[in-house]
Amino acid sequence: MLRQALQAVSISPRAQALVERAPLTRDVVHRFIAGETMDEALRATDEIVTKGLLVSLDVLGEDTRDADQADRTVRYYEDLLHRLADANVSDRAEVSLKLTAVGQALDPDLALDNARRVCEAARAAGTTVTIDTEDHTTVESTLESVRELRRDFPSTGAVIQAYLRRAEEFCADLAFDGSRVRLCKGAYGAPEEVAFTRREDIDKSYVRCLKVLMAGKGYPMVATHDPRLIDIAGALAVLNERGTDTFEYQMLYGIRPQEQTRIARSGARMRVYVAYGTEWYGYFLRRLAERPANLAFFVRSVVTRD
Ligand SMILES: Cc1cc2nc3c(=O)[nH]c(=O)nc-3n(C[C@H](O)[C@H](O)[C@H](O)COP(=O)(O)OP(=O)(O)OC[C@H]3O[C@@H](n4cnc5c(N)ncnc54)[C@H](O)[C@@H]3O)c2cc1C
Repeated sequence: MLRQALQAVSISPRAQALVERAPLTRDVVHRFIAGETMDEALRATDEIVTKGLLVSLDVLGEDTRDADQADRTVRYYEDLLHRLADANVSDRAEVSLKLTAVGQALDPDLALDNARRVCEAARAAGTTVTIDTEDHTTVESTLESVRELRRDFPSTGAVIQAYLRRAEEFCADLAFDGSRVRLCKGAYGAPEEVAFTRREDIDKSYVRCLKVLMAGKGYPMVATHDPRLIDIAGALAVLNERGTDTFEYQMLYGIRPQEQTRIARSGARMRVYVAYGTEWYGYFLRRLAERPANLAFFVRSVVTRD
């Protein structure tokens, strides 16, 4: 219900203008977003890697329907990747890319060429790219693009959303040597025909996917803040005799930061997804939708401003 309501809000330009102008919104937004500029994001990256964690940087912006804007996004990523290399952190910081940010809705071939340019820049910087998965209508074409990218850039990571009914099948296809696969619950919501909608069914699907990925030959990236699933992932890693360098945990910037540090200190790999940029609206609403308490926090901060 909450997710559906926020999804309706997310496509309303009036609601967007209202949220963006709300006086205290920016403070609340900064809980989840590392800043609006590359300098702020690099500062956050430096702090995180200094603590022994890893980073995946996401330049906010999605659903671009303008080829020039898509090109600007690619050049921005290229710049970012140069800066990561210059700062000597590209062995600990990679990038996440949304195909809709580089033109998927306009022309899938253009988006693929643009993603190639980002992968090229990542290779030159000595790091990797993970292609985020978005709305359910784009999942198959996104996974097909990842397959294409992997021909030239085998380290390109894919993302599987456990809420999809086909998630386990997708994981089985991707559990091969050298394949980097991020498993998340899924943030976009999707209809019953293609997705599980009850929390417990999504969690069960997540566990089935984890079993496939942990038993497989690839590199699982366990993206969740859910303590139960984190424990299950750890147990499956032991069961499958995986070393700590053969999989990693991932969480979002600003969510359960102490747990992020605890996991890293335990000797496991822990990567923080650091989103930044001026186009934070869609990302921010998805974070509100995940947890009623976040929405209450946001509403309270606006209402009790004085
Ligand atoms: C690294 C990373 C990359 C991701 N990439 C994608 C992607 O490409 N495509 C996609 O669809 N989704 C992506 N997601 C989002 C994901 O699908 C979920 O929407 C999100 O992670 C919340 O699910 P959860 O597994 O944490 O479980 P939940 O059941 O939502 O949460 C478990 C617990 O975690 C904490 N928590 C979770 N979310 C929040 C929050 N917003 N604020 C405060 N506490 C919270 C709470 O304690 C909650 O009880 C990504 C998530 C991560 C961590």
